[in-house]
Amino acid sequence: MSAASASETTKSGVQRVDVAVVGAGFAGLYLLHRLRNAGLSAVALDAANDVGGTWYWNRYPGARCDIQTTDYSYTFDPELEKAWAWSEKYATQPEILRYLDFVADRYDLRRDIRFGTKVTNATWDEAAEHWLLTTDNGAPVSCRHYIMATGCLSSPKPPEIDGVKDFKGKVYFTGRWPHEGVDFTGKPVAVIGTGSSGIQSIPLIAEQAAHLTVFQRTPNFALPAHNGPTPKDKAALLQGDRSGYREQARWSMAGVPLPQNTAYSWQLSDAERRARFEDAWATGDLVHMLTQLWADQGVDVDGNALLCELFREKIRGAVKDPETAATLTPHDHPFGSKRPCLDTNYYATFNRPNVTLVNLRQEPITSITATGIKTGKRTVDVDAIVFATGFDAMTGAILAVHPIVGRDGKTLAEAWANGPQTYLGLTVSGFPNLFMITGPGSPSVLSNMAVSIEQHVDWVVDRLIAMRDAGFSTIDATGAAQAGWVRHMADCATLTLHRLANTWYTGANVPGKVQGVMPYTGGVGPYRSICNDVVSRGMLGFRLTGPNGAAQCNDGEVVRLQPDVRLVLGMLAEMNLPPIESLGAHGARDFVNEFNEGRPAGRPVGDVVDGTLPGTDGPLPYRLYRPATPGPHPIVVYFHGGGWVLGDEQSDDPFCRDICRRSGMIVVSVGYRHAPEHRFPAAAEDAYAAARWIAAHAAELGGRPGPVLVAGWSAGGNIAAVTCQLARDRGGPQIDGQLLVCPVTDCTFDRPSYNDNATGFFLTRSLMFWFWDLYCSPADRVDPRVSPLRGKLEGLPPAYVVTCEFDPLRDEGIAYADALAAAGVPVQQLQAHGHFHSSFTMVDVVITSASGRAKMAEALRGFAGLPRQAERSDVEAWRRQDASPQQAAE
Ligand SMILES: Cc1cc2nc3c(=O)[nH]c(=O)nc-3n(C[C@H](O)[C@H](O)[C@H](O)COP(=O)(O)OP(=O)(O)OC[C@H]3O[C@@H](n4cnc5c(N)ncnc54)[C@H](O)[C@@H]3O)c2cc1C
Repeated sequence: MSAASASETTKSGVQRVDVAVVGAGFAGLYLLHRLRNAGLSAVALDAANDVGGTWYWNRYPGARCDIQTTDYSYTFDPELEKAWAWSEKYATQPEILRYLDFVADRYDLRRDIRFGTKVTNATWDEAAEHWLLTTDNGAPVSCRHYIMATGCLSSPKPPEIDGVKDFKGKVYFTGRWPHEGVDFTGKPVAVIGTGSSGIQSIPLIAEQAAHLTVFQRTPNFALPAHNGPTPKDKAALLQGDRSGYREQARWSMAGVPLPQNTAYSWQLSDAERRARFEDAWATGDLVHMLTQLWADQGVDVDGNALLCELFREKIRGAVKDPETAATLTPHDHPFGSKRPCLDTNYYATFNRPNVTLVNLRQEPITSITATGIKTGKRTVDVDAIVFATGFDAMTGAILAVHPIVGRDGKTLAEAWANGPQTYLGLTVSGFPNLFMITGPGSPSVLSNMAVSIEQHVDWVVDRLIAMRDAGFSTIDATGAAQAGWVRHMADCATLTLHRLANTWYTGANVPGKVQGVMPYTGGVGPYRSICNDVVSRGMLGFRLTGPNGAAQCNDGEVVRLQPDVRLVLGMLAEMNLPPIESLGAHGARDFVNEFNEGRPAGRPVGDVVDGTLPGTDGPLPYRLYRPATPGPHPIVVYFHGGGWVLGDEQSDDPFCRDICRRSGMIVVSVGYRHAPEHRFPAAAEDAYAAARWIAAHAAELGGRPGPVLVAGWSAGGNIAAVTCQLARDRGGPQIDGQLLVCPVTDCTFDRPSYNDNATGFFLTRSLMFWFWDLYCSPADRVDPRVSPLRGKLEGLPPAYVVTCEFDPLRDEGIAYADALAAAGVPVQQLQAHGHFHSSFTMVDVVITSASGRAKMAEALRGFAGLPRQAERSDVEAWRRQDASPQQAAE
């Protein structure tokens, strides 16, 4: 351990330090400890009069953590862990504050903290390479590095209601609760707001008050905490292997070690789902309820709706008055898209005779008078009003330091005029040497914050040490890196249901705030690995400078893949699989079958029927998927992928189900013959024969007689394209549209995507060479029946061509679409960014491909002359009910 260099005060009364930390909560305390140990002089400043941050300010009755306290703790020092034992599963605010006190004492942190000191503004001095912070109490601070540990939930939201000043009774804010406590005994009291703080405090205030009136704008989901001692199983896990447990937490999705759920809602019976739900209800663990029921609960509207309904049943069961129960029941957001709450007796409190619930959706507050609260329908006289109206989350405390002036006089408020933009949630381009702990763009509030805070602090302090050792004095994120992070954030947001709710996660609770999902939704473990990637790739996306012209900049975007594609490819890389082409055709087929067995089962459709149809040289198997809606439906003839060598009706089963469900059409997946047993043109001729037969037997198959559509993925896309050319040239069948997903269209390998994506994205260049060799002799390869790009393209059916950025076949797919358009064929293209060859067929694994699959289904419906499908009604309903952001969020 090296001794920290001392802070000094200049003649002009400025305090000089290497690093200024704003905030002395969980983050500020750990920062101070690490900075000192790194030999950097540091001061922390906090508006509060003591340590604790959140736990200093939030002293309202019932205030507790909602992540189990054994998880919500520092883990950086095993000795600290040994020295402290929590008394409860969810500790109260006083106990958590005692813990932070204990930490401050143990590491002697207070001597470098200036309490009661608010930082009011900050300016970067480019020449001196220093930040100058102005405070409302005492010396300004000049520092090389300025770290905002100002908290995500530390800026209480002011009430939006007129007349608060006229009220003659007492006004309290849960986020600024009096230290001496409040006695409500015998008083009429109002609580406005039913977010976490409201839900925790209402039962306790109701026990004291003569009468409690609760004003609710948006009901929230709350589950019983079942508080008590630390659960035995958790304690045993920790005792058994504390460091292993902590390490698992660091790489988990939410910062709490829980397994990845692999069972999908549609694989479970009603009884099984109910049993899982009851188990979670009895467990009293938010993270468990948020992640452990079924794999699609947090990513799929249908999977989530099943959980919401079980939850609503509980509310109806707990609240005796049906009207009150209905008012308390959330319908306007998917479970988990808004932070659910842990409660103790919350719903039962509304059965008390001294508690009234007012639904502000039906009777908004019109004013606060000298004696109470007026709505359109009633006047409620009270002695005290408690505002439990939440926080200007994530950005509130950061932007309250105003202005923060970065390079070229630009302020942070200007830089964030369209919403917060950061690199990694830790830095902002144009604001050198400024760091934020749990800033917007970090996992922060979607995680166990103790784990996230430690990771952020370690990453930042390690960078400062590395910069010092390498002789760099400034660090600034590049614009490209930041733009890449913003895009990655948006990609991640499509993965979850957070985008469907108006909440403080999206800024919707603060009138006029720019809206967008602010925390990083990609998970704690993936985030950690990305931060590590930035370092291992030479501080990717940062410009470092130092004295005498020292400079370094590896510019670039740290994540270009879709987040789920990144995870899938990461898992495949970890499996260290042999190249498929090294297994031989039979071995490769066995491998693919085994691989497919491990994936989620496809979703239910109306009916699935296996059959055979005549091919060019004997019967071919097919599998027919019929929608659950009344027919007759148009038919899509589908050809699976697998390089003309692998695959069958089973291999593309989830994709076919998805097309059937989304498009509302029959899908007939045809098992054509494979190479090397049956080389070119067997697959193409089988496909053509199948399309012909299916079109001729449409009515018999329960489909709509007349033209069919064709679709295919990869080599299946190749033979779908070829089938269209053959049908045009050989007198039918009539094909009204072609959906080509990542199709093979040409036999040359010199387009850039073959080189850019030659390895690392599952379908490799050498695997494609192997497929070609097995299927087709070099002489045959220019035949349009295998290289449709070389065929005549005029007069072909309209096409929807899908290509993926990280696919060797990308450029030939685009070339085919462009050539079709040039030949006068109506073409739409979907060039999917961040996706790889298998993205669209890995249904329910690569969730970010769902919107692309919805577009494909729309295209198919368009080809078949069906009307556009209305947006998913439940999503619509959620959006409609949340029409006004001001009304929606608390
Ligand atoms: C009621 C409640 C319960 C919570 N429960 C959990 C939980 O169970 N699990 C979980 O993971 N998270 C929980 N959180 C989130 C919680 O905020 C974090 O876990 C954690 O405490 C944040 O620590 P921090 O140091 O980053 O910020 P904070 O604890 O918010 O500390 C920030 C400090 O910065 C100071 N500050 C801000 N601006 C300035 C300025 N301009 N000048 C000087 N000082 C300034 C503030 O006064 C404050 O003391 C909860 C939050 C609340 C409100």
